[in-house]
Amino acid sequence: MKIIAGNWKMNGTRFDLDKMLSDLSSISTNNRIILCVPYTMLCGGNGSVSIGAQDISTHTHGAFTGEVSAQMVADTGAKYVIVGHSECRQYHGDTNDTVRQKAALAISNGLTPIICVGETMAEKQAGKTMSIIESGVRESIPSDVKSDIIVAYEPRWAIGAGLTPTADEIASAHTLIANTLADMGLAGTPVLYGASVKGSNALEIMSIPNVDGVLVGGASLKSDDFIPIITSVK
Ligand code: PEP
Repeated sequence: MKIIAGNWKMNGTRFDLDKMLSDLSSISTNNRIILCVPYTMLCGGNGSVSIGAQDISTHTHGAFTGEVSAQMVADTGAKYVIVGHSECRQYHGDTNDTVRQKAALAISNGLTPIICVGETMAEKQAGKTMSIIESGVRESIPSDVKSDIIVAYEPRWAIGAGLTPTADEIASAHTLIANTLADMGLAGTPVLYGASVKGSNALEIMSIPNVDGVLVGGASLKSDDFIPIITSVK
């Protein structure tokens, strides 16, 4: 069983989500499917697909115009939320500290956070990939986690760029994350790979040790692209 999570970013309408849910209900899979959609489409999903948000506020409530709290997301019936996505780190100033706060709020409101870590191109070129990944994991996860969390390794230079690291690079990153999680008392936490996953590379990527599934951006928007990823593994 793998976890296949889609990130729709700022795309789609409720009509598109209804169509995707209907298309996905016709496939047979043991994999766990999650769709992280814009706030306007949040709902409880259905028996085969769970729904998640793509970000939450660091605040619980109050005068924070435009923000949406973990409690509000949970109130829609959604079960997951992405925190620390590369685009939120790049455009909204998320740091490991704010990601940790968001993850804690997600957990305390019954949501499973999908906590993203990964290196930029500048960090990769400076030889800092491993240290950025390890500090991302150690600093973005709250210290007293007792319920489910998911970690996603997303090399930031590869997201939406059609680029993927080599299988060896993915294996090294995921081994480091698995070892770091074990050291933090979180052995067995699922670790997803994300960035430029498509039907043609999904099986190879999900066959790499310590890759428990994928987080898919562009290729999760249309069922013709998303279904082959889901059905590439049992
Ligand atoms: C993402 O946005 O999380 C992502 C992995 O995007 P893409 O698959 O388009 O690279």
